[in-house]
Amino acid sequence: MEKSSRRSFFKVAGISLLGISGAAPVLNSFAESQVSHTVEGSYVKNESTLQAKRWGMIINTKELSEDNVPSIIEACHKAHNVPNIDNKKHEVKWIWEEEFKHAFPTVNHDFLNERVENLKFLVFCNHCNNPPCVRACPTKATFKRDDGIVLMDFHRCIGCRFCMAACPYGSRSFNFENPRPFIEETNPLFPTRMKGVVEKCNFCAERLAVGKIPACVEAANGAIVFGDLNDPESEIRQVLKENYTIRRKPALGTGPSVYYIV
Ligand code: SF4
Ligand code: SF4
Repeated sequence: MEKSSRRSFFKVAGISLLGISGAAPVLNSFAESQVSHTVEGSYVKNESTLQAKRWGMIINTKELSEDNVPSIIEACHKAHNVPNIDNKKHEVKWIWEEEFKHAFPTVNHDFLNERVENLKFLVFCNHCNNPPCVRACPTKATFKRDDGIVLMDFHRCIGCRFCMAACPYGSRSFNFENPRPFIEETNPLFPTRMKGVVEKCNFCAERLAVGKIPACVEAANGAIVFGDLNDPESEIRQVLKENYTIRRKPALGTGPSVYYIV
């Protein structure tokens, strides 16, 4: 990263290098990088771009099984060069499985239906309507687009992890080590990250930009519905109308855009 651009993002943040613990190692990792990165959120719109006022998703847990869940996770992680790190303390994940009691701690109770109790829920960034992670980021590395997608600009991330502390869903991962050696097959269409950078699900903004639905939705064969929550005629709104759905920790007021049919 150029000195001038480093200086400018610290200026945006209104902080000094010495004022943030851990800033120096993060900057070293930036300096080590040999690969140029696409700035997230700068995808150019054209006539094939899929557009919405507010993108959202519905996970139909009744259609999830041990057969399709691994391929859904794999589709996402392959598309986004998510490293496969065995060390649980250093692992990076964009979409993963969670037990009901952890995914929905506020609706959990002693006499839960057995199917739901044993079900593994697919969880990822909720692309909240009122995202606390965005407010917490001092460099504006994470931001909400007009269509509701919460994105990361990997260039701007200084690794302070304020966004991780602010997200009540644990949706973000931190690269404690260089992720590149842990990527089995690199997808050249998406940037790899570096040590010291935070990352998470991006609702496949790079695929929407070229007219493709998210990789997880494609791999789910109907078990995940994606669409415009603001459009009363959209499929996602019809499914919401016809089914009882829940969201993760709705009482916090973050306004998750991901719904679950249980
Ligand atoms: S789930 Fe977490 S990371 Fe995603 S938008 Fe909400 S607060 Fe931010
Ligand atoms: S929307 Fe895209 S980035 Fe998010 S979980 Fe699905 S495949 Fe992964």
